[in-house]
Order: sequence, then structure tokens, then C-alpha cells
Amino acid sequence: MDEDIICIGCGAVLQADQPDQAGYLPPARLQQASAEEDIDVYCQRCFRLRHYNEIIPVSANNDDFLALLNSLAAKKALVVNVVDLFDFTNSLLSSLKRFIGNNDFILVGNKFDLFPENSRQSRIKDWMRQEANRVGLFPKKIFLVSGKNKKNLADLIAYLERRTRNQDAYFVGMTNVGKSTLLNAIIDQMGDVKNLITTSRFPGTTLDKIEIPLDNGHYLVDTPGIMTENQLATRLNAQELAVVSPQKPLKPATYQLKPGNTLFLAGLGRIDYLHGEPTSFTVYAARGLYVHRTKTVQADDFYARHLGELLAPPASEDKLPPLQGQEIHTSSKSDLLFGGIGFVTVAADCLVKIYTPARIGLGIRRALI
Ligand code: GDP
Repeated sequence: MDEDIICIGCGAVLQADQPDQAGYLPPARLQQASAEEDIDVYCQRCFRLRHYNEIIPVSANNDDFLALLNSLAAKKALVVNVVDLFDFTNSLLSSLKRFIGNNDFILVGNKFDLFPENSRQSRIKDWMRQEANRVGLFPKKIFLVSGKNKKNLADLIAYLERRTRNQDAYFVGMTNVGKSTLLNAIIDQMGDVKNLITTSRFPGTTLDKIEIPLDNGHYLVDTPGIMTENQLATRLNAQELAVVSPQKPLKPATYQLKPGNTLFLAGLGRIDYLHGEPTSFTVYAARGLYVHRTKTVQADDFYARHLGELLAPPASEDKLPPLQGQEIHTSSKSDLLFGGIGFVTVAADCLVKIYTPARIGLGIRRALI
């Protein structure tokens, strides 16, 4: 059969090539459906949702995502932007401001389990609010949660229950922020979610959404994650991602540096200490990430010789764009940000040059911890 087969759950064209795209079905299953001219088929995502109440992520291209956002402005909805606290700046959807219309919008910072126990929530929320305001977003509420450990979910769920009495809640987010994990945790904890169904795409787009019905007649709506070049996660393979993604709370590792020293965060980040007093640099990153201190005069040579082996990830030299740096002066105790890899806390009044591939994820903020 040459014609496309459509998933009867979400309406996506079934395909066996790209597991993270809409309509995916394992090749053998798709072949079987074609051979039998079976038109009663669910894609893998809808199947899992129906049978296991489990949401699996699917990604969309930017055009599809913009179409989705456009349709959002025209209806009354609560917009829930799920962001990755570990890569916040790059997972905040700044384009949302054009599309929210009069709708309320909340920020949900996920992966809070990674922050050390003594982290101050109010400080993290203040920083998130400032960053959001800076790009013209004014969140009604900010939550810090862990979808994985089901931490701090009660407040968010209570809020969602209250706010969905007269509208649906749309969950939007970049890929890899943990939106699916979080939604699964919410479904699990919300007693009244029942009979999960999937519904058709947004009119006029090729995008599917998943509606999770609530007892009150409204829905939690899952939307495909959007990818951006600004997330290091989208440039790494699964093995590399496993090394840089922390699984346990961040454990600080402190290095004493003086001007003329360089610190490598595997092959993905570099700090040159240019000017200041000898001081400590405290690295917050995945426990398995290799950190190496050397002299700046030897750093280029060291990097060239060890990239892809000692300094890994990245696994091979040619996949990622080369390291590019940016000079930064710290006027107060600050976190140097290496989005997706971690952050490094440093005292005030240091001049440093920090690097990542093509400067992806570079930034600075007032120290959070
Ligand atoms: P999605 O693409 O936004 O739907 O993200 P996923 O739910 O597939 O999660 C992406 C990655 O983040 C996976 O490796 C998850 O294990 C991890 N992850 C998701 N939620 C959490 C969380 O609350 N804490 C931690 N530490 N990791 C998480």
C-alpha cells in the first residue's frame, strides 16, 4: 500500500524513520500495518499514552511550533513554559511573548533535584523572574520542581487544578527540558486524570498535540518540544549527553586558580583566568565530567592533543564548532554559565575568558548558591 497511513490517535502520518518525530512506529510494525492495509493504527506515542498513561517526547520544526503559538493567542488558555534549571537561559522560550495575547503564563523550572539541598528557592526564583523580564516575559507564577523525583509537585498541581476550571493549560518547552517526565509525574499524581485520549492536530498545521482530560472538562495539553541550536544538548549524541547530564544533585568541586591558569570542562568548556587575586573556582557539573587545570600558555596545545580522549566529550574533534571565548569581568560573586554543562562560581573582581563551542550556552549571573 503506497498511501500514507494516519495515526488514529493524533492524526500524524505514520513513519518509521525518526523516533523523535510525530507519527513514529517501529519499522516492523509499520510494515505489518501496510501489508495488512490496517487503518486502525496508533503511532508509538499514542499507543504508549493509551496503554501505559505515558507521554513520550516528540519534536517539531520551528514553523510548526510558530503555528502552534499563533493558535494559542486566539484562545483562552494558561501557558506553562517548562524550563531546564540547568540550562535556563537557553530553554526559556522568549518568543512566547508575541503569542501569549492576554493569556496568563507561568514558568516551571524543572530538574530542581540537581540543585544542592541548601539552595535558596527565593533566590533562584528571583533570578528566573529577572531573566524572564529581561526578554519581555512576565510570569504570573514561578515553580521549582523535579519531574524525575516528583519533588515540589503538590503546589504546581493545586495551581493547575485551580486555573483549569475555566480553561486548558498548554505545556510548551524546548526539547530535553524534561516536559514529558514532568507531565507523566503530574498525570501520576493527579487522581482525577482518567481515560487518556489523543486528539487531532492544530488546524492548519502539521503538528500534533496530546490532550489529557481532567475531571473538570478541561485539558492539560502536551505540545511537541522545540529544538534550538542554542542548546548544547541538541548537538551531542546520546552517549555524550549521558556524561554531561547530571543525574544526582550537583556536588561542588573547588579549584584554586591564579591568573595564567586555565580550567577545562572536558572538551566542551574552558576558563582562562586573566586578572585578579588567586581565588577558588567552584565547578557545579555532572559528577563524571572531567575537569582539568593547566597553564594558559599550554592550554591550546593541551586541547589540541587531548580533545576527544582525555578531554571528552565531545567524542570526536570535527563534530562540534570550535571553542570560542568571551571576556567577562565579575563585579560581584558570580556564576559563569556553560549552558547544558554546568556553572562555575567565582569571586568578585575577576577578569576571565570563558569558552564553549561557538559560545553556545555562555553567560553570567549573580551567584545562586
Ligand atoms: P522533553 O524532551 O522535554 O520531553 O524531556 P524528557 O522528559 O525526555 O527528559 C529529558 C532528559 O532530562 C532525560 O534525560 C531525563 O531523564 C532528564 N530529566 C527529566 N526530568 C528531570 C528532572 O526532574 N531531574 C533530572 N535530574 N533530570 C530530568
